[in-house]
Amino acid sequence: MSLQSWGMYPLVENNIIKFQSEKELADKLKVTDELIPYGNGRSYGDSALNHTLVHARPYDYFLGFDESTGILHVQAGVLLSEILESVVKHGWFLKITPGTKLISVGGAIASDIHGKNHHIEGCFSECVEEFSIMLADGEIQTVTKGEDLFLATCGGMGLTGVILTAKISLKKINSQFINQTTIKTKNLKETFAAFEEYKTDPYSVAWIDCLAKGENIGKSLLMVGDFADDGDLRYKPKSKLNIPFNFPSFALNTLSVKAFNWLYYNKSKDGVSHQRVHFDSFFYPLDSIRNWNRIYGKNGFTQYQFILPKESSFDGLERILDKISKSGKGSFLAVLKLYGKENENYLSFPIEGYSLALDFKIEDGLFELLDELDEIVVECGGRIYLTKDVRVSKETFEYGYDKIEVFRKFREKNNMSEKFNSLQSKRLGL
Ligand SMILES: Cc1cc2nc3c(=O)[nH]c(=O)nc-3n(C[C@H](O)[C@H](O)[C@H](O)COP(=O)(O)OP(=O)(O)OC[C@H]3O[C@@H](n4cnc5c(N)ncnc54)[C@H](O)[C@@H]3O)c2cc1C
Repeated sequence: MSLQSWGMYPLVENNIIKFQSEKELADKLKVTDELIPYGNGRSYGDSALNHTLVHARPYDYFLGFDESTGILHVQAGVLLSEILESVVKHGWFLKITPGTKLISVGGAIASDIHGKNHHIEGCFSECVEEFSIMLADGEIQTVTKGEDLFLATCGGMGLTGVILTAKISLKKINSQFINQTTIKTKNLKETFAAFEEYKTDPYSVAWIDCLAKGENIGKSLLMVGDFADDGDLRYKPKSKLNIPFNFPSFALNTLSVKAFNWLYYNKSKDGVSHQRVHFDSFFYPLDSIRNWNRIYGKNGFTQYQFILPKESSFDGLERILDKISKSGKGSFLAVLKLYGKENENYLSFPIEGYSLALDFKIEDGLFELLDELDEIVVECGGRIYLTKDVRVSKETFEYGYDKIEVFRKFREKNNMSEKFNSLQSKRLGL
């Protein structure tokens, strides 16, 4: 059986290399021409796809936890969900977490993922104290912050080697609940004003109605919050609903998305409201439905995520939302976020500004629409997120990432560019 990406597009046949020891992996690397590491397949596009994959997910032992410093030592295949299952009851949580906990630590480092607190805490690499990585010749290096191999690997999409273990720092919590405030806005101007008003709150994210038109463009529900302090740490993950098969692709259309958006927006009270919610529903609402990617049908889907610098964000987002709304292709998942400062890593995605992420099912005319959106992103000085991407052109990509030449030279100098490649890296010449 072949491994696929979360977007189920493109479908690729692949040989899967598994390993239980460093020696076994080193031996297999030596006799394989080209491969890419694969974690838990939650990236949407082709960054973890090629004809040979190193499946790091089964490499998943916990190696130690220092309660005095909050530093956890794990193998790279451990999932964030597995970490939460063992540490929340002792009052610890991940410093940085994305919108799903079903990703591996290796995948979190390779995409230098971010969460709802990027504007305050930055990317995942901030909590990585050290990692070990197997290079193309089978040598293992231990890497710490500031080293070139750290800057290239965090956000480097598996193109520098196979991450084997990591030491990550956790944060203290005193509740499994979040005190959430929801702010309902009527247009993009109000949404931006709300983000600015609540920017000192630790966590924030807005769900945006991407099919709203005219004066309602950008209407959204901004959710901000922080952990409660009630001492309730009795965490038990709930069982999940399952989508048992691919939906027919006509099931998700403009009408069904409009109906969902109407219901979702109107279930919230006008103005500002307060709720106490579990961290699972605050951080990971989609994880409660297993295989939710099947609702897009058998042709699969993609997520388009771009970020614009703060000064061009309002204008750029208004133009992009207008185009999406007119195309009628939007989906119910459209998420807007405010980001803090860019870090030093060569290919990490975030810059200071606003980012929008939207799902689109694969259908005729989609890539043409996304090419048009790319033009606006480029004009505004923005960039596209590699871990979501499956189709961006080399030219558009290069406009966005000013350290791309440093990354390419680093790969060449260290003999990485022959061995570690994904379909994405070949498309973009990474
Ligand atoms: C519902 C959902 C919500 C999401 N929300 C967010 C979000 O809020 N923020 C965000 O930043 N991302 C988000 N993502 C994307 C996701 O966090 C990243 O794609 C993450 O990298 C997936 O990790 P994975 O273990 O599944 O890795 P894979 O998808 O298998 O691989 C992703 C990349 O990591 C590399 N990689 C994996 N394991 C290793 C290893 N051991 N050594 C070297 N390289 C490796 C692969 O080569 C590939 O380039 C979301 C995804 C989903 C499905």
